[in-house]
Amino acid sequence: MNKLAQLDHAHVWHPFTQMRDWLKREPIVITSGSGAVLRDVYGKEYLDANASIWTNLHGHRHPQINVAIDRQLQKIAHSSALGFANEPASLLAGKLVQAANSKFKINNLKLSKVFFSDNGSTALEVALKLAYQFSWRVRSATCSPALMKKFPPRFLSLDGAYHGDTIGAVSLGHIDLFHKAYGGILFKTDKVMSPYCYRCPFNRTKPERADARQYRKCHWECVGLVEKKFAAQKKKGNPFAAFVFEPLMQGAAGMIPQPDGWLKQTTDIARAHGALLIADEVMTGFGRVNSKLKITNSKLPLFACQQENVQPDFLCLAKGLTGGYLPMAATLTTQKNFDAFLGEYEEFKTFFHGHSFTGNQLGAAAALASLELLQSKKSIQQRTQLQKNLHTELQSLWSLPCVGDIRQVGLVAGIELVKNWRTREPFALRERTGIRVCEAMAKRGVLTRPVGNVIVLMPPYCTTKPQLQTMVSTLREAVAEVM
Ligand SMILES: *Cc1c(COP(=O)(O)O)cnc(C)c1O
Repeated sequence: MNKLAQLDHAHVWHPFTQMRDWLKREPIVITSGSGAVLRDVYGKEYLDANASIWTNLHGHRHPQINVAIDRQLQKIAHSSALGFANEPASLLAGKLVQAANSKFKINNLKLSKVFFSDNGSTALEVALKLAYQFSWRVRSATCSPALMKKFPPRFLSLDGAYHGDTIGAVSLGHIDLFHKAYGGILFKTDKVMSPYCYRCPFNRTKPERADARQYRKCHWECVGLVEKKFAAQKKKGNPFAAFVFEPLMQGAAGMIPQPDGWLKQTTDIARAHGALLIADEVMTGFGRVNSKLKITNSKLPLFACQQENVQPDFLCLAKGLTGGYLPMAATLTTQKNFDAFLGEYEEFKTFFHGHSFTGNQLGAAAALASLELLQSKKSIQQRTQLQKNLHTELQSLWSLPCVGDIRQVGLVAGIELVKNWRTREPFALRERTGIRVCEAMAKRGVLTRPVGNVIVLMPPYCTTKPQLQTMVSTLREAVAEVM
């Protein structure tokens, strides 16, 4: 075994990994990459079919991002945001605010303030703590202390939600497999059904060889449930403080897309009940999910919420923020929320939260370069074409009897594998079907990770048509091998 692999086996504990399985075989040791290609220690090349766990946008070693980081390195790598401002973080905050508000003119809802942190979990943690404090302060004007104690601010999130792995973010999540083990140290949040058209509990979809969102015959029963949930909580005398959601597509839940209109309807309900909106765009942000795409668009919205004209009170960004280069995150919020934290020093209304690397210069420089690329004509054309090609290529998979559903939103696709497409019968988790298919793909030079039995394809934006064709045909071959 390669020396680096030996050291890994001896000392590295990998995330979300059964390490007993890991230790059974030699790991792939990545040593370099360029564009959509990763190279291992033996020189073998692989296609990065999940964009290095949903982070990479423009490809590896992109010349413009490399130069931006180099240039920043010549000045300084890091100085603290505790006490000092810095050049790239100031510029980046301005650009993020511009991108997040391009479609909105409602002044008090404008996202005008940016809190930087390090990763998706902390971006959610910041939103959660801000929303909690904000609700507490608003209510303290009218509520007695006794009532406030009885009814602390409550959060509503979606079934299957994943918002990260720190304790606050885990509390907002609803994936039993990940979260049950920590029940004792989590705070209680409520959940409501999210649309999963392929497995609609109201049975409004009979399997067809198409994306279940297209052939559903429903009366928005799932939206009705959201309405009911908000109404019931209000009746208890403690309306929800905030509604937390991944807009347009839930990632770790299994790439579960929302049909057009669901987001708008449910967030309108939440607003009508006075709840704050927390949008987790850690996966969907930065052009990853454009559902309504016109090839002539010279301006594509960068965020999923914008496509349904939803303006959240908190917009949480991470993964793709730096183009997938460096760990950095941002939580955007409104002037109104910001103002609630203003006061005399000794009132201690300060937001007591921060990280050592808040506003890191190298990360901010990479993010600025990535934003510039995203807004270039070339990138917009590239994404539009890639999205069309992805749609075309995916159609070939319907001929496989074990493909139950193919769910594409923009540049993300989830392919759900089932025992039999006519019955939708799932494979048992213990059969590890998704994992085995991805292992068979890796052998053939295409890397991705499944979510249960859903195979994820999330190509970097620079992926060429032949590379995309290889990703999909390799998936076909791998499924054939495993079945
Ligand atoms: C990945 C992810 C997170 C957590 O981000 P980390 O950087 O891994 O902490 C949160 N929300 C969503 C939707 C994600 O996909």
